[in-house]
Amino acid sequence: MSASVLAILDFAASPEGPRTLGHRLADPDAPQLTVADLAATRGDGVFETISIGRGRLQALEPHLARFARSAAMLDLPAPDPGAWRDACTAIAARLAELPEAFVKIVLTRGIEGGDIPTGWALGQASPDFSAVHRDGLAVALLDRGLPHDVAATSPWLLAGAKTLSYAVNRAAVREAARRGADDALFVSTDGVLLEGPVSNLVIRRGRRLSTPRVDLGILAGTTQADIFRWAEREGYETEQAILRQADLAEADAAWLVSSVRHAAPLRAVDGAAIPVDAELTARINAALRARVD
Ligand code: PLP
Repeated sequence: MSASVLAILDFAASPEGPRTLGHRLADPDAPQLTVADLAATRGDGVFETISIGRGRLQALEPHLARFARSAAMLDLPAPDPGAWRDACTAIAARLAELPEAFVKIVLTRGIEGGDIPTGWALGQASPDFSAVHRDGLAVALLDRGLPHDVAATSPWLLAGAKTLSYAVNRAAVREAARRGADDALFVSTDGVLLEGPVSNLVIRRGRRLSTPRVDLGILAGTTQADIFRWAEREGYETEQAILRQADLAEADAAWLVSSVRHAAPLRAVDGAAIPVDAELTARINAALRARVD
């Protein structure tokens, strides 16, 4: 089985705007993108990363809904959900022998000056995260340089959209590494905990799980939502809240949660140890892996 599977989405111009024709499988090792594509020159597009467990797509519909919301925030043509669902399903079927894989779907504004978007879906095997799940992550708190209400005050900054412009998120992980940490956790200029560069924060205090509110200019996480649905069935209370560093310092456990890596427990924040809840981590990750959309 090939290590990765690529599907290219085909579009045609029409008076109502670009129409999605469907997908075709393509060689993932061959060049496919034109150098003038606005994804390459401006990071002008949106994406989603969807976990696949033994051929089953996890939280596909919430991912497609967020893909559409991000596209709308960038004034991109609305993605045709049926066409993207078909592409993801075709890729998942080809990765069914893998216990854990993922598919990244991308929609760009296309070639500069044109009016047809570019779209593709690339499926790959997931890395092995068992050491992180067992040992936990040390995170560095990094100021995002924006106030907690940036989504309301400055919507043009696209806070909360999953755009291709992730150079800042990657730089944050490198800064965290320079500080001796494994990952970053963004904080607003006014001290409100936000999200990781590719993950949401979940804190446990007793039988209550808390996560930062989605109106803080952060991504509405599909993994966080599924964890809360599972936890409520298990009798936990859940809340979206304004959380600060003190809440993290007093937490009984905390995680950075995301598709593909799932729930990664935190073991330290800016060098201060916090407890790792190994049992709940294992139960959450088992529930996430068992998801079917
Ligand atoms: N926040 C950001 C900035 C992200 O990029 C991601 C995922 O990549 C998440 C949160 C977690 O979202 P999800 O759980 O839907 O993967």
